[in-house]
Amino acid sequence: MRYVSTRGGAEPRDFEGVLLAGLAEDGGLFVPEAWPELSAAEWRALRGLDYPALAARLIARFTGGSFPESELLPLCRAAYGGFAHPAVVPLVQLGPHLFVEELFHGPTLAFKDLALQLVGRLFEASLARRGGEIAIVGATSGDTGSAAIAACAGRAGIRIAILHPDGRTSEVQRRQMTTVLAPNVTNIAIDGSFDDCQDLVKAMFADTPFRETMHLAAVNSINWARIAAQIPYYAAAALALGAPDREVAFAVPTGNFGNVLAAWAARRMGLPIARLIVGSNRNDILARFLVANDMSRQPVVPSLSPSMDIQVSSNFERLLFELLDRDPAATAATMREFRAGGRMPVPEAAWRRATALFAGHAVDDEATLAEIRATEAATGYLADPHTAVGMAAARALSLQGIQTVVAATAHPAKFPDAIERAVGRHPPLPSHLADLYERQERYIRLPADLAQVEAAVRSASLRNAA
Ligand SMILES: *Cc1c(COP(=O)(O)O)cnc(C)c1O
Repeated sequence: MRYVSTRGGAEPRDFEGVLLAGLAEDGGLFVPEAWPELSAAEWRALRGLDYPALAARLIARFTGGSFPESELLPLCRAAYGGFAHPAVVPLVQLGPHLFVEELFHGPTLAFKDLALQLVGRLFEASLARRGGEIAIVGATSGDTGSAAIAACAGRAGIRIAILHPDGRTSEVQRRQMTTVLAPNVTNIAIDGSFDDCQDLVKAMFADTPFRETMHLAAVNSINWARIAAQIPYYAAAALALGAPDREVAFAVPTGNFGNVLAAWAARRMGLPIARLIVGSNRNDILARFLVANDMSRQPVVPSLSPSMDIQVSSNFERLLFELLDRDPAATAATMREFRAGGRMPVPEAAWRRATALFAGHAVDDEATLAEIRATEAATGYLADPHTAVGMAAARALSLQGIQTVVAATAHPAKFPDAIERAVGRHPPLPSHLADLYERQERYIRLPADLAQVEAAVRSASLRNAA
């Protein structure tokens, strides 16, 4: 299995190459040169596998010789063995045709654990055979940082430094990062915004001597390995609801377009997915695109679903590449125009192709709170604000008679203030995090200054060296 850049200007790589590279050197995103497809009989044969076995079987279609299924299976067992639910990604039925798939039973209570718990182990396995070490640096507004730290803490050959905007994450989110005391983990609170953090990370990658001596690596959602690791839970839900012999639909609360792109990939592999419903908060660029072919950037506004407070959905480029018949020159030109003018010119025919499958719906904070309240009153189910956005979109756009599965992307206890506002009480943290507020924290505070941040990353220790 080889991977090419959506912009056509990078050497093709194998899976391990794209795992370590993250972004392609031409600024594009890596995509499979050809999509693997399973026949109906092959899908049926997957029914009854437990989640780690299903994941290893499907991800092996993308890893090729880099990580054969026999090597993936123990890594998947280790990655998902620590989840707090025996089904890993349980389905809960809320209505005659409405389900939620709970993707938040991992160590940091958001769906990002499903990809990162495996990706941390893939990095470690790759370093073990190639030798060497890497430094993962990333910026977070909350969920990615804690999931990446939980995935990399104590792993051989890896140091990880995560920048978060001081005082601008929720306390649960901060503590999930700063109470991890493993010596290879450095948390840096930046005096600034999330954008300042992201700019510092970009500047570290652009500092070639620093990037090369430190062997910088990225774990943001443009890393193909994360998308590949998100495909199995769509397959698990679809198979449980009768695929490949019955169609299903998914509703996905969406920010960077990574999660819903994995659903698209599952369909491309042959699962009968009738509709993909994209839920947005007031940062509604994707909904505007799907409703009116208006992909124009607007300022980011803070919302009750902060992990979706995004205006440029990086992973959309992978779908764009497919909508443009995999034409890398057209993809590169479209992305250039978007960067320069703030509006993405998607040809009418390509937009129509997108809307034949995708539908988008945006809800504001009031509607999000109303959805949490109404769902709890009707079913007793407490949804986090991101999941509630997905539910509201599912209600608006689901297809008659087709089972719709909402991706429940975070545990409600991760966003206690919004839940309190919706239903008047604080959701308790699950038992493995019950003492989070008593745990010791460790982090450093720095101004948004590249030299000081690089010095802090450099001085972070490796587990082996500690
Ligand atoms: C990251 C995140 C999202 C958005 O996912 P994308 O893959 O960026 O679209 C939604 N909900 C939660 C809770 C998240 O952490």
